[in-house]
Amino acid sequence: MAEPSRTATASFSFEETVVACDVCGAVEFRPVSRQAVVVECRRCGYRFVNPRPSQAEIVAAYSDPHFYDAWIEDDAGRIRMWSKRLDLVRKEATGRTLLDVGAGIGTFLALARDRAGWSVAGTEVSSAAVAIARQRYGLELMRGQAESLPLPRAAFDTVTLWHVLEHVPSPSRLLDVCHAALAPGGRLVIACPNDDDTSQVEPRVKAWLKRRLGRPAALAVRYERLRPGGEIHLSHFTTPVLRRLLQDHGFRMVSVTVDDHYPAPSWKTTTRIAVYRAIARLTGRNFGVAMLVVAHYRAPVGTG
Ligand SMILES: [Zn+2]
Repeated sequence: MAEPSRTATASFSFEETVVACDVCGAVEFRPVSRQAVVVECRRCGYRFVNPRPSQAEIVAAYSDPHFYDAWIEDDAGRIRMWSKRLDLVRKEATGRTLLDVGAGIGTFLALARDRAGWSVAGTEVSSAAVAIARQRYGLELMRGQAESLPLPRAAFDTVTLWHVLEHVPSPSRLLDVCHAALAPGGRLVIACPNDDDTSQVEPRVKAWLKRRLGRPAALAVRYERLRPGGEIHLSHFTTPVLRRLLQDHGFRMVSVTVDDHYPAPSWKTTTRIAVYRAIARLTGRNFGVAMLVVAHYRAPVGTG
């Protein structure tokens, strides 16, 4: 019998207040969504949840033993998703050492190790995910937030952040950690949700079409209120904000495309991503819901 999800009905406290913008340090914000408690920095345009749940509440939500059930169920689809991402990363990499921050149950690292022969390491906050990675792939992930782990310095050719940056309390601090772990000249690959206005076109068109056809269509909601058991996005990045953040932390953003994030790829999703990637290449605009960014290690932080 399926166990009812204990966390699905609980709610977060939203007791932690952010006083200074993580991107530029400014202290004045304007509300963007009152329902989802999202604000925007008046100086740099960075959007984030404020106030927000505490880290203890968030880690507890991810460590729910049932949180990863769906990930294990669509195994074949997810392996296809990770294989495509691995192909992309291999094209960019300058060497064969990889650190995946927020490695989840470790599928990507296991593929990089087994198919590419890379030497891999990973971090993960969820004790449930760490246990699954050990059991399924024989991977020993470092448990905890990358910011508080003793990671080796200048040790990796590639660092990956697959849908991690939007979850962490301080993206700038995490980028510093990634920079320190990378060998000079290394590559940082980031996938995260796309909050450019263009990402809102598809959901709006879909809702409009449904209404035209007389079908029930909920209004497309840009930001959802955080709840345990759901996706816990503390930041919402646009391309310009992420470019600036990378620049300020020793990186140069060299490419932005659409992330193929579909865990059960079909011809429909693959076609959609191919079309969006072509549009992104031609116009620089990302109509997809997620972005994939490649950044190069530019300089030691603080030397410009
Ligand atoms: Zn700011």
